[in-house]
Amino acid sequence: MTPTQGKFPLKAFTRLETPFYYYDLDVLRQTLTTLKNEAQKNRVNVHYAIKANANPRILSMIQMYGLGIDCVSGGEIRAALKAGVPADKIVFAGVGKSDWEINLALEAGIFCFNVESLPELEVIAQLAAARSVTAPVALRINPDVQADTHHYIATGMKENKFGINLGDVDAVIDRALSLPQIRLVGLHFHIGSQILEMNNFAGLCSRVNEIQDRLARRNLMVEHINLGGGLGVDYHHPDQAAVPDFAEYFSTIRRMLRLRPGQSLHVEPGRSVVAQCGSLISKVLYVKQGSARKFAILDAGMTELIRPALYQAYHKIENISSDEDAEKYDVVGPICESSDCFGKEVTLNRVRRGDYIAVRSAGAYGETMSSNYNLRPTPKSYFSDDLI
Ligand SMILES: *Cc1c(COP(=O)(O)O)cnc(C)c1O
Repeated sequence: MTPTQGKFPLKAFTRLETPFYYYDLDVLRQTLTTLKNEAQKNRVNVHYAIKANANPRILSMIQMYGLGIDCVSGGEIRAALKAGVPADKIVFAGVGKSDWEINLALEAGIFCFNVESLPELEVIAQLAAARSVTAPVALRINPDVQADTHHYIATGMKENKFGINLGDVDAVIDRALSLPQIRLVGLHFHIGSQILEMNNFAGLCSRVNEIQDRLARRNLMVEHINLGGGLGVDYHHPDQAAVPDFAEYFSTIRRMLRLRPGQSLHVEPGRSVVAQCGSLISKVLYVKQGSARKFAILDAGMTELIRPALYQAYHKIENISSDEDAEKYDVVGPICESSDCFGKEVTLNRVRRGDYIAVRSAGAYGETMSSNYNLRPTPKSYFSDDLI
């Protein structure tokens, strides 16, 4: 028996149709408890980035811990409100907000719009005027800071589409201050995702300090600084490192960032909150001997978990129903795409048809990114509390 086998209720799994997402709610509770404690200790306001996982059961648990929500669409705002999150804890980011989404957010009375361009600012002002309300706005600034992560998930360098370029910030601030429907309340940043180098966050803080100094020379100060999300998780050690090091992350930004008196600090973690509690569970359909390698062909594919195909992401893969000697397999799905591969030369306990395979650390950007390509059904989800 490998140590992980005891982590999964295999007997209960045999009653369920694969593939499905399995969420270990104890891991989620531990993560949320640590996150909440460390946030309180460091006086950080947390808005969970709902795009990482919007499963209603997960959301209701996150809501119980009192976190706010970071949304990037009208649908996400609706999901957050439905989960019982107070509107004044919701932030709304995104480079392309539609009019209906802006109207929805204005009507709900959210905490803040994270505004990514001058034309967006103008539209929000117009829509707010039409409703005779004011819109609380933080400007999302592209800090031109390097993040050591896959280039598809780096967002804070000047060639990225996100945020307002440093050179344009003064003009956008001037415009915001001139619009009576806009209340400029904050500055927002987000440099990317799956960041494990605390230096990257320290670099962001230095840049924020420079920007704040520039504003201070104009006698300007905003109410809050929002550093976005991005804290990474250890995909190689889902059990040993189940709870991310929020203490180190918060203490780094607290130490590096020079907040002004009365200014509040906000963050938007997504992945680090939910990645480790989720596993994609599938069954082996066939073991196929190729000319050079052996394939384990699963009943789950990129339609359930697209991260390996989209970002060449690594996930730990385990055969949870075998204790036979290890062999190497290319672990692939059934989808008609060559990129539908979870891992090459993966060491697994000897695989046979019908074995259960767990793809670990799949709680973030797994279920939310699933698709119906090849007309496959939307994956179901099950929770440790219900399966004993
Ligand atoms: C995606 C995103 C997040 C969350 O990122 P994680 O890496 O999952 O923590 C936070 N803020 C914004 C603006 C985002 O786009």
